[in-house]
Amino acid sequence: MPELFAEVVFPIPLKQVFTYLVPAPLEGIAQVGMRCFAPFGPRQAVGFITGLTGQKPAHVKNLKALNSLLDGEPLLTPDLQKLGKWIADYYYCSEGEALFAILPMGFVKTKRFLGLSPKGLRERDRVMGILEKEGPFRKVNWETLSGGTVLLTPRTGGLARLLSKEGLAELKLEGSTAPLEEDALREAPALEKGPPLHPQQQAALDAVEKSLEAGTFKTFLLQGVTGSGKTEVYLRAISTVLQKGKQAIVLIPEIALTPQTVERFTRRFGDQVAVFHSRLLPAEKIRHRRRMASGEAKVAVGARSALFAPARNLGLIVVDEEHESSYKQDQPPRYHARDAAIMRAQICGATALLGSATPSLESVYNARSGKYGFLSMPQRVNQRPLPGVKVVDLREEWIVRGSDRPVLSVALAEAIRETLDKKEQSMLFLNRRGFNTVTLCLKCGEQVHCPSCSIPVTSHRKGGETALLCHYCDWRGPVPAACPKCKDGAIRQVGLGTEKVEEELKSRFPGARIARMDLDTTRERGSHEKILERFRRHEIDLLVGTQMIAKGHDFPGVTLVGIVGADTGLALPDFRASEKVFQLLVQVSGRAGRAEREGVIYLQTFNSDHPSIQAAVRHDTEGFWRGELELRQALSYPPFSRLGLLVYRHREEKKAEQAAQEAAGFLGRESRALKVEVRGPAPAGIFKLRDEYRFQILLKAEKSQAIRQLIQKLDGSVKVPAGVGRSVDIDPQSML
Ligand code: ADP
Ligand code: ZN
Repeated sequence: MPELFAEVVFPIPLKQVFTYLVPAPLEGIAQVGMRCFAPFGPRQAVGFITGLTGQKPAHVKNLKALNSLLDGEPLLTPDLQKLGKWIADYYYCSEGEALFAILPMGFVKTKRFLGLSPKGLRERDRVMGILEKEGPFRKVNWETLSGGTVLLTPRTGGLARLLSKEGLAELKLEGSTAPLEEDALREAPALEKGPPLHPQQQAALDAVEKSLEAGTFKTFLLQGVTGSGKTEVYLRAISTVLQKGKQAIVLIPEIALTPQTVERFTRRFGDQVAVFHSRLLPAEKIRHRRRMASGEAKVAVGARSALFAPARNLGLIVVDEEHESSYKQDQPPRYHARDAAIMRAQICGATALLGSATPSLESVYNARSGKYGFLSMPQRVNQRPLPGVKVVDLREEWIVRGSDRPVLSVALAEAIRETLDKKEQSMLFLNRRGFNTVTLCLKCGEQVHCPSCSIPVTSHRKGGETALLCHYCDWRGPVPAACPKCKDGAIRQVGLGTEKVEEELKSRFPGARIARMDLDTTRERGSHEKILERFRRHEIDLLVGTQMIAKGHDFPGVTLVGIVGADTGLALPDFRASEKVFQLLVQVSGRAGRAEREGVIYLQTFNSDHPSIQAAVRHDTEGFWRGELELRQALSYPPFSRLGLLVYRHREEKKAEQAAQEAAGFLGRESRALKVEVRGPAPAGIFKLRDEYRFQILLKAEKSQAIRQLIQKLDGSVKVPAGVGRSVDIDPQSML
C-alpha cells in the first residue's frame, strides 16, 4: 500500500511547510483545506493541510504522523486557498498566518458520518462484501450504512476508505445544511423592490451589469458624493448577480456596520443575507459560513473578514468606503481588504465594485490610468446642493477673545442656538477623545508622556475625577501635582477632546439633550447602536463625537454640522495626513442636510489656508486630487511608487537600533540592483510603544515585487537578532 503524506502549515511567522505521514485510518478522509492536529515540537498544534502527496520527502527522517483531523470537509474553497497563498506572498507573511486569518473560527470539531453514495445504495452486494471482509463492526450493517448513521472513527476509517475508493461511500457532516434545491422551493417573503433609479445611478449600474454579463474580472471605482445613492447601485447590482444564480460579498467598515446598514440589505434580500462581524459568537460564525458555503445564503455583508466568506460561485464583491484605512489589518497578515478583494474577484472571474465619496488616491490613480472603470455620481439623490461651509478662523477668534482657546466660536455657538430653537439636530465633530489632550509643565514646558510609550497622555474625566490615559497601551495614572521633570512648575492641561466639548455644550445649552459618541462611550456591546438610534428618533439634540459619527449614517433631522477642530491629524508625520483630513472633513460634512431641509457646516480651524481644508470647504474633490497627486508625484510617494516598512523593536534602544542598522546596511548595498530606495533607519513615528523602542526602515520602489525580493534577500543573509521583534508592512497605511 503506497503511503500518503500531508503538507501542513501552522499559524506562525515561520515560512515553512511541514510534512507528516497520513495514518491509514485517515487516508481517503484527509483533504487539502482541512485543519489537523499534528505533533509540533514537544506538543500538539493545529495546522492546515495545503497539500497531499504520495511522494515521500527525500530529506526528512523520522516522519511523524498526523494525529487527527478537525474538520469533516475542506473549510476553504480552492479560490480562498489561492487567495491565502497570494496574501502570504504579497504581504510577506507565512502561508499559515494567511490561511488562519482567512479562517477565524473556533476549534469546533464536527462529527462525521459514513453513508452510501447513490451508487453504493444500488450495489448492496458489493457494499456488504467489503463490510464482511473488513468487519465485523458493532452497529455497522446495511441499515445503518444506508441510513448514513455510522459514526466515522479511526476504527471505521478503513472501511470508509475502501468504500470511497469504489465510489460507494459518502461522508456526511453533523448539522450540515439542507441541499440547495429544497431551499429554492421555499417561498420567499415579500421583499422590497427599491425606487426607480436616477439617470446617474442607471448609468453606473449599466456599466457594472455589462461586466456582470460578461462574467469576467473587472474592477470599478464608483465615486459618488455623500447621499448620491451609491448603496442603491450596490443593491441593484447584487440583484442582478442573484438572478444569475451567483453570490455577492459586501464589505463595509466596522463602524458603519450598524443594524440600519444591514437592514437595507435584509429588506431587499431577506434571509439570503449572511452577516459577518467581529461580535458574532463562534457558533454563529460557523452557521453563517455554512449557509454561504451551501448556497443557502447568497449575500455576505460584513466588515473586513466577510471577504473570506466561503462563497462557491462569486459574481460580485462590493467594497464600500474603499478609502477607509481600517481595511488594512495592523498585524500579520497585514493585508488590505480592498486589495485582497480585488485579487479574490480576479481569481473568481468576478466584478469588484469600489465605492466612496472620497476615494483613496491609489484608486483614483488606477481609475485614471484605465486599470479600473470609473463611474461618477456628482449629484445628491434629493437634488439638494451639498451643504454650504462657513469657515471660522480660530486665529482671529483667539485674538478677539483673549487667551483661552475657545471651544465654540461665537458663530458656531449662535448656529447651535438657532438650530435648537428650530427643533432641529446638530452634530459636533472633533476627532480626539478625552478631556484635555495635553498635560504640561508651565515652567519647563515638559509634556507628560506615558511611562511605556512615547505618546503624550490624554486626560479623561469620570465622576468628577481626572485621570491620565495612554491611548496606545491603556496605561492609567493620576495627574501629577508638580512637573515630573523639573519638580517645580505647576501642571496645566490644554488641548481639546470630545469630553470637554460635551461639558462646554452642557453649560452653554442647559435645556438641550446632549450625547457623546466615541470609543469611551461605546465600549459596551450595543451601546453604539443605542446612541445612534436615540439620535435618529430625535431624543438627542446635540451629538458630539469622533470619526465614529462621520461615517455612513443617515440622519434626516440633522441640519447643522459643527467641525469643532478641523486640524486634528494635519501635523502627523505621514504623507497621507492631508488626504485623511480631507476625507474625514468631506465625510462629516456629508451628514448635514440629507433630507428635506438644507444643511450648513461650520468649520473651525487654525489653518484656513491649508489645501485639504480649502478643498473640503469648496467640496472640490477634483481640485484636491490634482494638487495632492502633483505633490505625491514630485516626492514620488504612492500612488507613484510602492512602499514597504520594516520596524525593528526591542526593550533596549541600542539593540533595536543595531538590528535596524545592520539590516539597513545590507539593504543599502543590495538595493541598487533591484532599484529600491532605502531610507533609514530612523526612530519610528511612535518611537517607544509598550516599553519597546522602535526603528524603521522605509523601502520605496516602482514595483512592490522589488521590495519583497529585497527583503527576501535580507532574510537570506542577515538574521534578526534573538529577542528583537521585526515586522514587515507592505503598502503600509500608517507610517507611525
Ligand atoms: P450614499 O450611499 O451614496 O450615501 P444612499 O444610497 O444611502 O447614498 O442614498 C441616500 C438616500 O437616498 C437614501 O435614503 C436612499 O434610500 C435614497 N435613494 C437612493 N436612490 C434613490 C432613488 N433612485 N430614488 C429615491 N430615493 C433614493
Ligand atoms: Zn502607553
